[in-house]
Order: sequence, then structure tokens, then C-alpha cells
Amino acid sequence: MNPLYAAMPTTIFETMSGLARELGAINLGQGFPDSTGPGDVVDAASRALFTQSNQYPPMAGLPVLRQAVADHYARHQGLDLSWADEVTVTSGATEAIAAAIFALVTPGDEVVLIEPAYDAYLPLVLRAGGVPRFVRLAPPDWRLTAEALDAAFSPKTRVAILNNPLNPTATMFAAADLALLAERVVRHDAVLIADEVWEHVVFDGRPHLTAMALPGMRDRTVKIGSGGKIFALTGWKVGWMCAAPGLTRVVAKAHQFLTFTTPPNLQAGIAHGLGKDERYFTTMRADLARSRDRLTQGLEAAGWRTQPSVGTYFLSVDLAASGIALDDTAFCDRLVREAGVAAIPLSAFYHADPVVSVVRLCFAKNDETLDQAIERMARAR
Ligand code: GLN
Repeated sequence: MNPLYAAMPTTIFETMSGLARELGAINLGQGFPDSTGPGDVVDAASRALFTQSNQYPPMAGLPVLRQAVADHYARHQGLDLSWADEVTVTSGATEAIAAAIFALVTPGDEVVLIEPAYDAYLPLVLRAGGVPRFVRLAPPDWRLTAEALDAAFSPKTRVAILNNPLNPTATMFAAADLALLAERVVRHDAVLIADEVWEHVVFDGRPHLTAMALPGMRDRTVKIGSGGKIFALTGWKVGWMCAAPGLTRVVAKAHQFLTFTTPPNLQAGIAHGLGKDERYFTTMRADLARSRDRLTQGLEAAGWRTQPSVGTYFLSVDLAASGIALDDTAFCDRLVREAGVAAIPLSAFYHADPVVSVVRLCFAKNDETLDQAIERMARAR
């Protein structure tokens, strides 16, 4: 048995969702919307199920989806991607992250991880034989600094992984911070895996800054996106990787032996969705911003202290500032069992010495669910 997995706990998202199911709690833990997704996207997928081939699609993905991804990023982020040579469809962004890491990291290579780090990154890096080097962000601003980056980058750095907007802190990296990171990736001749699954979930008019557009980064970035995140269809597991042709050839080789392909009808549905006009994305952001404000205001009125959420559909509650003496894990356990609300402890995103005073709540829920969660949390103080 591989000791890495034998010693590993089950991912916090499955653990908390399992507890929520078992206890009948409101699940604000694992990040997923409670909506059914846009009807026309679901229709497009269901029509494709009956009218198009259900046999293996091309390994790199259906051309219609790869074209839609390239067109989408041309329109929304000013990128000029060749759909045929620079886009690979994967079974969700998690598979894209795995494929990119397995393709780029060889044993002994150093990989720069920014903590708090999404929980899949470290196990995958270790499985690839990579040596993690951590850049620690400090609350409440969670900013990158030149000193922390310089301490992590070395001549052995092969890959750095960026998640922007950042799950779980709900922050976005400033242009100046991204420039610091890009400069080091270029200087060390490394590759950046840019997990940008939250690229459309940004608030208050702030633009998403895509890593590929940073100086020197066009051909040394693997940009990862998620149809599930963009269209509130997280169970579909349709994601993609965009990278220069040479990089794409290598990451596609890893993808071919992980999942090989992704259900074709779901690819067709997401391809349809990516063509939606700007109004869809503006409305989605406005709706989520309203939910964010509802949960924030409700919790603040009940005496909870929250941190600003500018991207992702998560809200951070500061336990220490709210007068809670428990650490995040103990608090989440109590909250789900006694108050009936599932949340995610921030410490799940650290390899050691975690920040233990913050918990993450998902606000992509209807008003009634949010109000009920607020009421339960008001009583949990
Ligand atoms: N990305 C989701 C979250 O942060 C979890 C996805 C998963 O559980 N694989 O909640």
C-alpha cells in the first residue's frame, strides 16, 4: 500500500458533506450551488445525449468545446489561444491539476505552493515525487511578498501553483503581487499552474487578472478552468487546461492515462454555455454578490465577525474576533453537530502550523437556506 494514501485523511469536503448528510445539517461546507444550473445548458447536454455520439470523444476534447474555450477567453480575457493546439478538456479541474502536476514534476523537482493551498495540490505534488516549498500568506490580507517568494523559489523550482481568486480566503491577488510571482517564475525558468476556476466569480467590479497575460507568462502557464464552477454544475466534472503547444502536448499525455476523455454530451452542454452573452455572467455575479451580502449582514448582526469576500463563493468567519475560543476544527465539529450547519475549517488548507481561527462558509445558496443558517449560527454563539 502506498503510505502516502494510507496515512492520509479523507478530504475535508467529503468528510463535512458526509456529516451534513448524516446529521441533516445545512451544508455550507463543500462549495457547490444549490441551483439546478442554467436550463439552456442542461437542455443542450440532454439533447446531445440523444442526438450525438456517446462513444469516446477525441482525447483532447470535442472540437466544439475546445473552440468555445478559446473563443470565451478571447472575449473575456483578451487571450489568443489556438483551440487545436492549446486547449485540452479534462474531467473537471481536479483532473487538470493532477495531469499538469504529473506531466511537469519529476522526482526531486521543487514545487512552490501558496498556503492556504487547495487541499488537492500537496498530495498530488508528493505523489509525483515533487518537493513542496511553501509560501505562507498572512491574514487578513493574504498577500504575496517578495521575501516569502524568494525564500521558496530556488534553482530547483520546476513548477509554482497559483489559485486566483483564492479558495478558501475569498481574496484576489493584486496585480503587483502577481507581477512578483511571474518575475520569479520567469527568472527560474519554471512553469506556473494557474488554477483559475473562480475567474468568473469576482465581485464589486474587480477584474479577474489571468496569469497568462502577465509579462513573460504566455508560454509558461498552464491555465485551468472549470465548467462546473462557471455554470453551477459542479457534478458534471468538465474542466480544461490551456497552455502553449509544447506544454499542451505534455500535459495531454498525462491526461490520456488519467481519464482519457470526458462524457461528450456534458462537453456539448458546456460548449453551449461558454457562448452565452455578457449578461449571463453579470447576472450570476450580481446574484452571488447579493447572497454574499445577505450572509455577511446576517452573521454580522448576530455578532459574528467576517472577512471581506471579493472572489469565489465563500465567506470567512473569524472565530477569534467573534469571541470563540475553540480552534477551527473543533468549532466546525460542534457547529455541524449542535447547530446543524456544516462549514470548512481553514486548517485543512495547510501542511503544518495552520491558521486555526477562520472557517469558510459557502453562500451559493437560496435566501431561505442562508436565513436558516444565519438563525442557527446566531444560536450557536
Ligand atoms: N472546490 C470545492 C470546494 O472548495 C470542493 C470540490 C471537491 O470536493 N472536490 O469546496
